[in-house]
Amino acid sequence: MASSESLMRRALARIPGGVNSPVRSFIAVGASPRFIRRAEGAHLLDVDGRRYVDLCMSWGPLPLGHGAVADAIRAAVGDGTSFGAPTEGEVELAETLAAALPSLEMVRLVSSGTEATMSALRVARACTGRWKVIKFAGGYHGHADAFLVQAGSGALTGGVPSSPGVPPGVAADTLVCRYNDLESVEAALHANAGLVGAIFVEPVAGNMGLIPPVPGFLQGLRRLAAAHGALLVFDEVVTGFRVAYGGAQGLYGVLPDLTCLGKIIGGGLPVGAYGGRAELMRHVAPAGPVYQAGTLSGNPLAVAAGLATLERLRAPGTYEQLARLGEQAARLLRQTAERAGVACSVGLHAHPVLSSGGATRPGWRAGGGYRGIRPVLSRDAGSGSLLAAGPV
Ligand code: PMP
Repeated sequence: MASSESLMRRALARIPGGVNSPVRSFIAVGASPRFIRRAEGAHLLDVDGRRYVDLCMSWGPLPLGHGAVADAIRAAVGDGTSFGAPTEGEVELAETLAAALPSLEMVRLVSSGTEATMSALRVARACTGRWKVIKFAGGYHGHADAFLVQAGSGALTGGVPSSPGVPPGVAADTLVCRYNDLESVEAALHANAGLVGAIFVEPVAGNMGLIPPVPGFLQGLRRLAAAHGALLVFDEVVTGFRVAYGGAQGLYGVLPDLTCLGKIIGGGLPVGAYGGRAELMRHVAPAGPVYQAGTLSGNPLAVAAGLATLERLRAPGTYEQLARLGEQAARLLRQTAERAGVACSVGLHAHPVLSSGGATRPGWRAGGGYRGIRPVLSRDAGSGSLLAAGPV
C-alpha cells in the first residue's frame, strides 16, 4: 500500500495543498498529513501501519466513536442511496431535532454547516429586510462570503475580507464584535441603527480555543437582538448535541430565533440543518419566497446515520459518560504535555452536574440528560488554534 508520504506527493499535484479541507494539511502543527486507511472505535489506522487514539473524531461528528452507527448506514444503503424525493427518515430527523432543541419549530436539512449558516443568514435578511450581520472575532461560521470577514479599522464600521475573493461590499455588511463583550454589540447596533438583521454567535466559542459565554452574555444578546429588531442566530454546528443533548440553548436557557446545526446530526455523513421559529422558516421555498435547495439534502444514508447517533445520545447516562471520559482525556493530555515539557492548555466545557453549582443554571432542562463536556486542546490558552481533542 502507498505510504502517507507518497500519497501526499500525488495529492499535491492534483488537490490544492493536497487536502480537501485546510485543517487536514497539518500545517498548523508543522507536520505532514497521515493518510487514514480505516478507523475503529477510538482508533485511527494510517496507511503506514500506525495506530492512533483519535481525539478529533472527524472534528466533531462522531461523539460515539468510529463505526458506532455503521449498521444503520448499511441497512439504509440496501434501500437506495438517493431518491430526489422525500423520505420518512427526513421527517423523523426533523421531529427529533425539534424535540431536542427548545427553539426549533421547523427545520430544513442541508449537507454541511456552511450551507446551514449561509442559508440562515439569507432567511434572517429576508425576514428583517436588513443586510448587516454581526459576528464575533474568533468565531467561525463556515466559509460563506459574509462570514470570512475580520474587523475593520474601527470596531463599529463594516469588516474587511479575510480571504481574497470576498467582495469588499459583502464584507462591509459584516460587523465584527468581541465575544463576551455586550458593550461592543450594543455599540455596533447603535452605530448601525435599523440596519442589522442578524447576530450570529457560537454560543460556546469553539473555534478560538474553548471559551464559554460569561454569565449574562447570551441573555444579553437575546435582549439586544430583540430590542434592535435583529434576529439572534445560534451557530450550534459544534455545540448542538455536544455540550448537551439540547445544545447550548437548552443548557443556558436562551432561545435564539434561528439555529444552525451540522456535524453530530449526520453521525459522520454530510448533514447540516437550519431552523427556528415556524413563522420565520415558513419564508423558505417552497413554503415561501426565500430560495434554498439541495440535490442531496436529507440524503437517506446521512439521515439514517444522524438518527442512529441521536438515538444513542439520548440513552440515559450518555452525557455523563462523555463528561467523565472528557475529564479523563483532559487530565492525561495535561500530564503528558507537562512531562514532555510542551506548553499547552486543555479547555473543558464545565459539566453542569459534575461541576459544582452548574445544575441550577437557569433554563436547565432536568431529566433529559442534557449535559455534556467538550475537551479542547489548544496551543495557547484561549487563543491558539486547535491541535486535537475538540471539534472545529
Ligand atoms: N459553524 C461552526 C461553529 C463550525 O465549527 C463549522 C466547521 N468547523 C461550521 C459552521 C461549518 O461547517 P462545515 O465545515 O460542515 O461547512
